[in-house]
Amino acid sequence: MSDYILEMRNITKVFPGVKALDNVNFKVKKGEIHCLVGENGSGKSTLMKVLSGVYPYGEYKGDIILNEQIQKFTCITDSEKAGIVTIYQELALIPEMTIYENIFLGHEIKKGRFIDWNETVIKAEEMLKKVKLKINPSIKVKDIGVGRQQLVEIAKALSKNVKLLILDEPTAALNEDDSENLLYLIKELKKQGVTCILISHKLKEVISIADSVTVLRDGKTICSIDCDKEKITESLIIRHMVGREID
Ligand code: ADP
Ligand code: MG
Repeated sequence: MSDYILEMRNITKVFPGVKALDNVNFKVKKGEIHCLVGENGSGKSTLMKVLSGVYPYGEYKGDIILNEQIQKFTCITDSEKAGIVTIYQELALIPEMTIYENIFLGHEIKKGRFIDWNETVIKAEEMLKKVKLKINPSIKVKDIGVGRQQLVEIAKALSKNVKLLILDEPTAALNEDDSENLLYLIKELKKQGVTCILISHKLKEVISIADSVTVLRDGKTICSIDCDKEKITESLIIRHMVGREID
């Protein structure tokens, strides 16, 4: 059995006039926290969108191999069925709806033809417990802060039985306490067997949490660092990101 949950091989993605990804290779080990870093426009989000089916099979070149099987996702639902859930920086929650409605939106719990609201609330409470969020699930999402909204998104991912959780700059809009809380939770999820890909600009955060780091520059993989084998520092990462020595 391979150590890798994910291998993306020779991924190329072209937009009109832009080669966003140029033969990218990207491998993630089972159960690790893998940080994906690179300057703005280096292709991080595009790579994750290829992985999650936002750009469907046929609209990119290369192979996505999940648990040793080639995947041909045609939409986000396909990748979610395979256990891949992405949380974007722009949160996808519906502010006017309650926390429990949001958690099960799109994959409602049904009794016969109807939504089983009692069960939905019970299950939502279970998921909130897993993300260590003590809150009444009947509160509307618009009435909680962005840090807690982030946790609700993760609760939603857990309700979909996530195996590979992708977080695209999750702490960009969070204050220090909420960021720390989120990083702690990612480590807890790792203990429960969830593999995580974390995109972040905050290199201190990357160093504190990463098992591996991949650096993209101009749509190309520059390097992958195994943090057990090589000591990572901010200056090492920045050097790879920008491609030259820095002061
Ligand atoms: P990052 O997430 O690392 O900041 P992106 O993956 O968003 O980078 O972007 C990589 C490159 O692809 C950039 O040059 C960006 O302008 C371009 N790009 C991203 N999405 C699109 C799109 N939908 N249409 C055209 N160009 C895009
Ligand atoms: Mg991005």
